[in-house]
Amino acid sequence: MRQAQEDPYQRRSAQVYAAADRAGSGSVATPRPVLYDAVLLDRDGTLIEDVPYNGDPEKVRPVPGARAALDRLRAAGLRLAVVTNQSGLARGYFTGEQMRAVHARVEELLGRFDAWLICPHDDADGCDCRKPAPGMVYAAARELGTTASRCVLVGDIGRDVAAALAAGAAGVLVPTPVTRPEEIAAAGWVATDLPAAVAEILRRQQAVQPSAAPTEPVRTALVVRSDSAGDVLVTGPAIRAVAAGAQRVVLLCGPRGRAAADLLPGVDEIIEHPLPWIDPTPGPVDPEAMRSLTARLGAVGADQAVVFTSFHQSALPLALLLRMAGIDRIAAISDDYPGSLLDIRHRVPVGVPEPERALSLAAAAGHRLPDGDEPVLRLRRDAVPPRPADVGDPGYVVLHPGSDASSRACPPEVATRIVGALTDAGHRVLVTGGPDERAITARVAAAGGTDLGGRTDLAGLAAIVADASAVVVGNTGPAHLAAAAGVPVVSLFAPTVPFGQWGPYRVPTVRLGDAAAPCRDTRAASCPVPGHPCLSGIDPDEVVDALRTLAVSGGGGR
Ligand SMILES: [Zn+2]
Repeated sequence: MRQAQEDPYQRRSAQVYAAADRAGSGSVATPRPVLYDAVLLDRDGTLIEDVPYNGDPEKVRPVPGARAALDRLRAAGLRLAVVTNQSGLARGYFTGEQMRAVHARVEELLGRFDAWLICPHDDADGCDCRKPAPGMVYAAARELGTTASRCVLVGDIGRDVAAALAAGAAGVLVPTPVTRPEEIAAAGWVATDLPAAVAEILRRQQAVQPSAAPTEPVRTALVVRSDSAGDVLVTGPAIRAVAAGAQRVVLLCGPRGRAAADLLPGVDEIIEHPLPWIDPTPGPVDPEAMRSLTARLGAVGADQAVVFTSFHQSALPLALLLRMAGIDRIAAISDDYPGSLLDIRHRVPVGVPEPERALSLAAAAGHRLPDGDEPVLRLRRDAVPPRPADVGDPGYVVLHPGSDASSRACPPEVATRIVGALTDAGHRVLVTGGPDERAITARVAAAGGTDLGGRTDLAGLAAIVADASAVVVGNTGPAHLAAAAGVPVVSLFAPTVPFGQWGPYRVPTVRLGDAAAPCRDTRAASCPVPGHPCLSGIDPDEVVDALRTLAVSGGGGR
């Protein structure tokens, strides 16, 4: 299976000014931070005030608080690089010598950077380095001795965030008065200014790092994630963290998440039971079923329970059952007052990616991912079957138009046109869907793709996704299967929930769709707006361009 950090870019034409004596010279005694090794910073409008095509060191003005913020990052052991588009170089608005004088002045005012990445090209050059292309992010990561997914990029416009996402890095938008509203709407992570961005980077880094080991050793941990396949998949890193600190892990999941639970590393045993207060279409609470669940949970003999929930769910009803089952160490995220139901009541700000949100709860319960295990989604290799031979060689594009929630599904007519455009551009397209989506996949695939609707269960779909060049999909389970396989995603993301929390995690991604559509943050399961405008406006050529940005070429290669 493909690893998350595949890097299709050579350095090619990005100009790299590395401080090679610094890269790789970090402290060896401290454990590797869980999330980030490096922070990449846009220059104009982010570090210093934007003076168009500036070749004059005297005009360099840092943004307020920049020096202190950067020094906080340095003190935390993070490496720093500047990644900047400077098309004025190619256009002759300033010379290389003038630019170097400007950068010397920047370092005089803001301290030393470990690398400078500069794209001298214009949009018309079609280079791989000019943001929103991800080339400079890959090159910076390489210069700093790390990988793109262990970097976070801070910038002031949509191009910065898009370049970060396309490389699988995190992207923070720090808007200025010139940042367009649609760029702010599309960004998954927005900070008010550079010091606030830095504070949140450091907070997130710290939050997944336990301050202390569990007070008593954990023999059996009961972990819980009800809800659907995608929810279970994004909890995987946190479950691996618990598994690293416990001898045995028992997972309680719901029927809709069972197939995903079977794919997770670190799980020794699964208990499947619906929790009516979690399900979007809940059945009645049957006292007898609750008594039998409580007895089953008691029989687990867990000495710790960690209850993972989505931000709109309450862990407290289950915590009561766990108490009744005799479990006396319970950790969960709860904004509601838990009284004596929780031993560790954890709280998380909005906007944190779900995998990190769960990892931070695991950390609060005393667990962290072991060194060598990256905070990425992963699947058990032995749980994924061989890919069916008749789908052809690897290198195809998977288009998955459906979703459990129709508000997050790609409209069939749009998906049909996407298949046509991809086929015209030389891509082989496999159209996937569940047994109840056969009519849609047949209709969509008729535009030139291969219809695999109803052919696979979740594990079989994981096998097909793992050998894809890219997956084109809404905010639904297969996006997380792609992330788990390190396969780039073109995310047709309906904004019913925040992209920053639910976007494909730590995998090269291009986000499409109207992020400011009226369904934004409604959590609606079926689209509340006539015409499903957030996704119906996607131009199929945007998908073709997105694949190019992700270095996925037509004709089967990548
Ligand atoms: Zn360039």
